[in-house]
Amino acid sequence: MSNSSYGKVYLVGAGPGDPKLCTLKAVECIQKADVIVYDRLAHPALLKHAQPDVELIYVGKASSDHAMRQEDINHLLADKAKEGKIVTRLKGGDPFVFGRGGEEAELLVEEGVSFEVVPGITSAIAVPAYAGIPVTHRKLCSTLGIITGHEDPNKTESSIKWDKIATGIDTLVFLMGVENLPNIVSELVKNGRATDTPIALVRWGTRTNQETLVGTLGDIVEKVQQTGFKSPAVTIVGEVVRLRDTLRWFDNRPLFGKKVVVTRSREQASELTQELENLGAEVIEFPVIKIVPPADWSPVDTVVEGMASFDWLIFTSANGVNCLVKRLLKTNRDIRVLAGPKIAAIGPKTAETLEKFGVRVDFIPDKFVAEAVIDQFPEDVKGKRILLARAGVAREVLPEKLTELGADVTVVIVYETVLEDSDSADIKQMLDDGEIDIITFTSSSTVKNFVALIGENGKSSLPEGVTIACIGPITAQTAEEYGLKPDIIADEYTIEGLVHALVDRQSNITQALDRIK
Ligand code: SAH
Repeated sequence: MSNSSYGKVYLVGAGPGDPKLCTLKAVECIQKADVIVYDRLAHPALLKHAQPDVELIYVGKASSDHAMRQEDINHLLADKAKEGKIVTRLKGGDPFVFGRGGEEAELLVEEGVSFEVVPGITSAIAVPAYAGIPVTHRKLCSTLGIITGHEDPNKTESSIKWDKIATGIDTLVFLMGVENLPNIVSELVKNGRATDTPIALVRWGTRTNQETLVGTLGDIVEKVQQTGFKSPAVTIVGEVVRLRDTLRWFDNRPLFGKKVVVTRSREQASELTQELENLGAEVIEFPVIKIVPPADWSPVDTVVEGMASFDWLIFTSANGVNCLVKRLLKTNRDIRVLAGPKIAAIGPKTAETLEKFGVRVDFIPDKFVAEAVIDQFPEDVKGKRILLARAGVAREVLPEKLTELGADVTVVIVYETVLEDSDSADIKQMLDDGEIDIITFTSSSTVKNFVALIGENGKSSLPEGVTIACIGPITAQTAEEYGLKPDIIADEYTIEGLVHALVDRQSNITQALDRIK
């Protein structure tokens, strides 16, 4: 019987690597834990779900460097629970597939501590899947074995029945098998598996740094030696490995393995981050700008009072829309005060944001810069009263040109873009180590502030090989002014346009490399 003053232990499978391959229940257990005991195969991003005052205990476990002995881990779990705490034991993959979860549970039973098991997606199945290898296939395979590759080769009597499994099971998946590969291969061949049987090793599967090595039982040991292929890896033996040629889907996405820096504000980064991640990139969010309210709202409140007297209201960013609407609500008004003027948005995101508030946009130019607003304005602006709601620091082209054309222009500042004081040490280190592939800039202020954080004396020089990608020509021009050479300028000045431009360039590079080969 478990003691009711005790807490509880959750033995939780964290999934194979990709932090999204984690169950809802696992996330719940991370959220409610007082103590999290984790090892190196659980993705660090998962710990972000934890409470701020959680106690994190790393218990290591690379195969040759056991940070804490298993018996000590077992007792640690029990002891923490006995203090009344909720303990989440986070393990790579599934806790009961070579995860020693069984041993942990046994001790908990012995100690009278209650526990629950949260199964996880095991690397034995998910990692092959991410390499384009289904572990079963109706035409090729109807049996699947998951085997430890860690058995001591000097053990006099193997508990693995090599004579049975070598030919008795179609697909063999070995975990922890890289160091021991020569022994595994020799046992399989000695016991009758053909030397031309395909075999694949997949390292850091489901992550952005996944690597795959394919060979046959005849040549794989040599290939591993030549390439210096290291653990942790899943080894798959069997005809299903051939399917990778046609089913490969993960590690051939256009931005696979590229490290991309996103410099947008914390609140705005997610859309770009998501799109880049979907294309295989590893995104590093390094917000250099922050959106804050204007120092003084009174000019805004005044124009809002007289909104009906304007012919047009122009928004130059989604931020502008959000900040103005927030202000309306805060001052006991709502979107209805915008009923008077016609409304223009500089681009689709701005328009979409307005539509979210139920406001239809009367005009969006084809190109999303100030110049296009003027060229394509749907009516003669002469004598028209135009209100421009925008950031504190912005280009003057729009108000100036409109005024030249005879409009009566009022500019109000609805937000300010200021420097986000992000810690730049990690990014600097990664740049020095040549780890960053691409840096994205989505506005002139991201360029300026990036240089302020990373550069020296107002200029920035980046190491060779770092690609600079800008959302449009104005941002690119600012980049040049600050000593950065833009390699990519989007044709359509939106986040989507920027992502397209990155993909196009990458596929051009890939094609060029293919031609050289
Ligand atoms: N309980 C885990 C397995 C733990 S044993 C599970 O169900 O996945 C540790 C072994 O799992 C490693 O040596 C390696 O063979 C394999 N492994 C786990 N995650 C992996 C990953 N992302 N990529 C490749 N191999 C992985």
